[in-house]
Amino acid sequence: KAKSNGRGQYQFYSIEHDENIKRQIKLSSELNFAIERDQLNLLYQPIYHIDGKICGAEALVRWNHDELGIVSPNEFIPVSEENGLIVPIGLWVLDESCRVIRHWHDLGYTHLVMSVNVSYRQINSDDMVKEVQRILTKYQLSGASLILELTERVFADDLKLVQRNITKFTEMGVQTAIDDFGVGYSSLSYLKKTKFSSLKIDRDFIKDIDSNSASRKLCSAITTMASGLGLSVTAEGVETNEQLQILTAMNIDKYQGYLMSKPIESDAFEALLSNSN
Ligand code: C2E
Ligand code: MG
Ligand code: MG
Ligand code: MG
Repeated sequence: KAKSNGRGQYQFYSIEHDENIKRQIKLSSELNFAIERDQLNLLYQPIYHIDGKICGAEALVRWNHDELGIVSPNEFIPVSEENGLIVPIGLWVLDESCRVIRHWHDLGYTHLVMSVNVSYRQINSDDMVKEVQRILTKYQLSGASLILELTERVFADDLKLVQRNITKFTEMGVQTAIDDFGVGYSSLSYLKKTKFSSLKIDRDFIKDIDSNSASRKLCSAITTMASGLGLSVTAEGVETNEQLQILTAMNIDKYQGYLMSKPIESDAFEALLSNSN
């Protein structure tokens, strides 16, 4: 059926599909060497408190490959989750981001908190808590320096283990955030059973908040629900002043987005700190 179209459109699609599979295989095998060849890099996007001050950063990984160029995490993280490399990659990300937050604290910015994205494959492991503890100790950081961002995907697996790990993190002072809130497939019932620290409203609701009343109502309802549950709210993907004004009126707690800054290198982040706070 792939070749049934006389004008060859499905044929084209099929070639594209082949190319896609070839690229996946290439990415999957090349990813094996990404850490040892020093091809991974972290960028940092500032997170602002509603008072307008930078209160932290989200670490976002990039893969800089000789031939393939800069590969987006949207492309290689799923590949690494598939082949298991997310575990060493995730540990590298945690180590590097903690090294950097240690450095920022040493520069005097001790109030800054680092947010790190964590895959469902990482949180679904007994070693995760131990590894985070080891890295915090290595850099002499308190748990309060770290926020782990998890997507709703984590609830598709061993709920008990995930809940146990989240509880242990909370006891260590490490905060947990639900990332991409509202676009996952899970039900809200996990909010009853799992004690997160914060919730990040997905950009999908933010991007048309000034023109789409449904998005506006959803953001407002999410914010009300979250504060009722004792969760703080971060808006992601803020690109315009109008969006920020609407969100501020809703009493969100924190925001990040291209309006303030794209993800940047750590030295550029330090320059931003010295010019703002
Ligand atoms: P995320 O955690 O939801 O991160 C937010 C994404 O939105 C980032 O894309 C960021 O660059 C982008 N963004 C921020 N502000 C704006 C804005 O105003 N407009 C638009 N259009 N985009 C904005 P990025 O860096 O490409 O990362 C994509 C996703 O890859 C992340 O989504 C996260 O799910 C995943 N990811 C990134 N780094 C890591 C990592 O170290 N570990 C894991 N497990 N996943 C990661
Ligand atoms: Mg995130
Ligand atoms: Mg997100
Ligand atoms: Mg996302």
